[in-house]
Amino acid sequence: MPPSAEACRGRRRNATPGLAALLALLAACAEPPSAPAPPAAHPDLVAHGAELARGVVEVTAGVHVAIGYGLANSILIEGTDGVVIVDTMESAEAARPVKAAFDAITTKPVRAIVYTHNHADHVLGAAVLAGDDAPEVWSHASTLAELDRVLHVVRPVLYRRAMRQFGVYLPAGERLNCGIGPRLLTDEHTTPALLRPTHTFEGARTELEIAGIRLVLQHAPGETPDQIFVWLPDRGVLLPGDNFYKSFPNLYAIRGTAYRDVLGWVASLDAMRALGPAHLVPSHTRPISGANDVLVALTDYRDAIQLVHDQTVRAMNEGLEPDQIVQRVRLPAHLAAKPYLHEYYGRVDWSVRAVFDGYLGWFGGNAAELAPVDRRARAAAMADLAGGAAALRAKAEAAAAAGDHQWALVLADHLLALDAADGDARALRTAALRALAATQVSANARNYYLTQARETEGTLALTTPDLARVPPAMLAAMPVGQLMRAMPVALDAERSQDVFMVAGFRFPDVGEAYTVHVRGGVAEVQSVFPSEPDLTVTVDAAVWKEIAAGHRSALAALVKGDLQVSGGRLALTRLLGLFGTATETE
Ligand SMILES: [Zn+2]
Repeated sequence: MPPSAEACRGRRRNATPGLAALLALLAACAEPPSAPAPPAAHPDLVAHGAELARGVVEVTAGVHVAIGYGLANSILIEGTDGVVIVDTMESAEAARPVKAAFDAITTKPVRAIVYTHNHADHVLGAAVLAGDDAPEVWSHASTLAELDRVLHVVRPVLYRRAMRQFGVYLPAGERLNCGIGPRLLTDEHTTPALLRPTHTFEGARTELEIAGIRLVLQHAPGETPDQIFVWLPDRGVLLPGDNFYKSFPNLYAIRGTAYRDVLGWVASLDAMRALGPAHLVPSHTRPISGANDVLVALTDYRDAIQLVHDQTVRAMNEGLEPDQIVQRVRLPAHLAAKPYLHEYYGRVDWSVRAVFDGYLGWFGGNAAELAPVDRRARAAAMADLAGGAAALRAKAEAAAAAGDHQWALVLADHLLALDAADGDARALRTAALRALAATQVSANARNYYLTQARETEGTLALTTPDLARVPPAMLAAMPVGQLMRAMPVALDAERSQDVFMVAGFRFPDVGEAYTVHVRGGVAEVQSVFPSEPDLTVTVDAAVWKEIAAGHRSALAALVKGDLQVSGGRLALTRLLGLFGTATETE
């Protein structure tokens, strides 16, 4: 069963929404279910596991890459009196064995850590890899904002979808790999170990010399807008971040993502080609060495991306709709044959839809889509066409028996729209999802099908985790302003439709103040104190974040004297209740 909205709210009642969303990336509530016989898998995806095998590879003198310890790689660059580490894994647990492996190579201190971009699998093991050293932490200036946006604004739905895409809650025998890494080591038992960037650069590039290592950091928007690549001119080594790995790229992520600027991605690959690297060391999958092989790979990669973009736009301009364009756009044989363009992770058809959406939005152009029949009415009409619900079920079973699992899945969904408690329909849906999973080259598709199969049969419920496991140091480093600015998306518009209230918040320990103005279903947050508040809350940011994290309630803080209210306790209770924040004492 999918988790109910009530279950998610129940988990979140002590947490303000923005911080609760943080944990969407970090942990989960469900226990892994017991493993049945492993479902069949596509042989290409099985074979691709060799690309993700665990170990540290010395690419060239003093450049080592740890592969297969988690979802991402971590790269160690030795200098004269210290090392630089590029990307840091997804959790303390994923980073610890990497740290041990790096320590076995050199005991030189970590002078700098570089993040190629904000994604969790590159930043959440940093504190472990830094060890007792206090390295500079470098990123592009936009990484900070992206980090906060992802950590604070991302919704619980993104968490559930990410857990499906990476198959985090599949039993070991059922999960095969994640396409770009063996697994994502992030669950309710793991610890986020983020170090916030201490040094950033604006604009296109910066050049550094750290521990005798010359580094060029170059802004290279692509998989993310904040992406950079790292160029070591003295060693001919290029670290492309996630703008290259050995799979067709994830121009769209099914966990849910905003449009990725694919032409910007192509331009970033062209900037890499121009450098003529001798070694390409991506942050996922194994390195490529040899200037010609690197050039061919980068050129193929940029051509594949550009082709999908160009041919999608061409078809759009002809008037084709997404369902038609995905039937047309294919990689030509010479590109499709390249192992680094096989669709282990991203897929061409998903990318086509993303490009369409990026230019034209959700509307395909057919007027029939403008006000579609709701799901239940459509299911009832389908049953009517089939000759009743029993006949519809027979059609679904026949589709499954004929091996048309996609159609069986669609018909099972119609049956479940008619009766969500229909156990036979649930079994049909589960079987269809597992059958589809068995044929997928894309690990993302396989993991998503298998996880939703478990949710459908009721052996897995993904719920939004609480915040108890955020380490105090990481909580302390979070800007309170991000929590405040994330509040409006948690406002209950129905309950607040007749509420008009101005609340002023003062955080003396950080010298910040905010207005939260609730106006009949909308909350406006400003980073100034209001001139005529109905309610004033004075509380240290450190305490407010503990309240947001669910470590204590607002009223408990009030009783203890750690939070002061003018305007009435009742008004505070009423206000926080509108945002789903519990106020009862422990
Ligand atoms: Zn990554």
